[in-house]
Amino acid sequence: MKETIKQELLRKDRSYVWHPFTQMKDYADRDHVLIEKAEGIYIYDADGRRFYDTVSSWWCNLHGHGHPRIKEAIRQQLDQFDHIMFSGLTHAPGIELAEQLVNITPAGLNKVFYSDNGSTAVEVAIKMSFQYWQQIGRTSKTKFVFLDGSYHGDTLGAVSVGGVQLYHSLFKPLLFHAHRMPAPDLRQARAVGPEGEREVAEAALVKVRELFGREADTLAGFIVEPMLQGAGGMIMTPAAYLQGLRELCTAHGVHLIADEVATGFGRTGKMFACEHAEISPDIMCLSKGLTAGIMPLSVTLCTDDIYDAFYDDYATQKTFFHGHSFTGNPVACAVALASLRLFEEERTLEQAQITIAALAEALGGIARLPHVADVRQLGLVAAFDLYEDAERRHPFPPERRIGAAMYEAGFEEGLILRPLGDTLYYWLPLCATPDDVRDIAARTERVLRRVLG
Ligand code: PMP
Repeated sequence: MKETIKQELLRKDRSYVWHPFTQMKDYADRDHVLIEKAEGIYIYDADGRRFYDTVSSWWCNLHGHGHPRIKEAIRQQLDQFDHIMFSGLTHAPGIELAEQLVNITPAGLNKVFYSDNGSTAVEVAIKMSFQYWQQIGRTSKTKFVFLDGSYHGDTLGAVSVGGVQLYHSLFKPLLFHAHRMPAPDLRQARAVGPEGEREVAEAALVKVRELFGREADTLAGFIVEPMLQGAGGMIMTPAAYLQGLRELCTAHGVHLIADEVATGFGRTGKMFACEHAEISPDIMCLSKGLTAGIMPLSVTLCTDDIYDAFYDDYATQKTFFHGHSFTGNPVACAVALASLRLFEEERTLEQAQITIAALAEALGGIARLPHVADVRQLGLVAAFDLYEDAERRHPFPPERRIGAAMYEAGFEEGLILRPLGDTLYYWLPLCATPDDVRDIAARTERVLRRVLG
């Protein structure tokens, strides 16, 4: 791109755009990186510099950028029809996708409600669960439970069940009350392997048992990011916790709501994170990877039991009055179908296992570096924490803004990194190859040396 055009765009960016999750003053005398092209695992800026998209464009991308089959699906759908209302009208891509999602998600999730982003999928789950209990006459069941460190989106319902102080606490006066439970965190396991996992799971489940024993009559649902709390700091949680939670929710009549907005579609090495624990939730939220990260779309799946509580004569007023303008967008649904075909044709999940093994090996090298602690991995997601004194878990002073420095230095080494505080992570696309992850790890080591000496 010509330098003059680039400078003009960056001037306008600064004049008119307010970027999300961004302190805009940080850009007063520094430019945003202007992107010109994206292909496969790479993103290119206006100066022709190439970066690995190690966070899959906010945890969305699966098969790489610019996949020809996805582009073809968009073209074909646009040749037929573009966006249409999805209430009273229906269309083949929305119908076919719903059927396929019912077939591939955990057993018992038989109905699909469309919306258009992760937060709205969570809002739908909350309202659906709440209305269910009202409609079956258990009107005291109005409260929700969430985990410390959880992140379910930025709309107010999702923030009400959010457990990240930095993002959520300011908005407290606007939120509904929900119960916060301690999150199981595998970093706290004293023993390695299954014994440590059981111990961590049990310590957190004790609290749930206490709450359910006291409050079950007032509880509608328990929302959880299965196996992996993303935005809260890449906290990895044991399968035993999810299994215990499933049993408790069933025993006490509380909906288990699995927020797989981020973990769905293979990112954790299985199609859905719930599969690691072999459990089925009552409600499941999906977005991001649903369209391979190409188009905005989301779904909330639920059981027949929940759906049936809304199914009655109109006069009974059991209708679910919820919907968004871009609900079930046909182009997005066509892309999602193309993505699911790719999973079959390119044996995406099988291929990803080879990369996942290579990633485990590459992380071994990073784990030996100074300042690095708690290297952890689930499928194509890996994370580690940076400390001034890693052994004693003594943090860097906040004013050093280590995470921000890593982000900046990443560009110099051809990496798009997006640390959460002083936690560095990869959220790799399923198209990443073993060579990619080895290269990314080597570049990360250079970034660490650059920033930490
Ligand atoms: N749930 C989870 C687990 C998420 O990670 C996110 C977004 N990172 C959301 C919900 C919200 O999705 P969106 O940003 O599309 O609203």
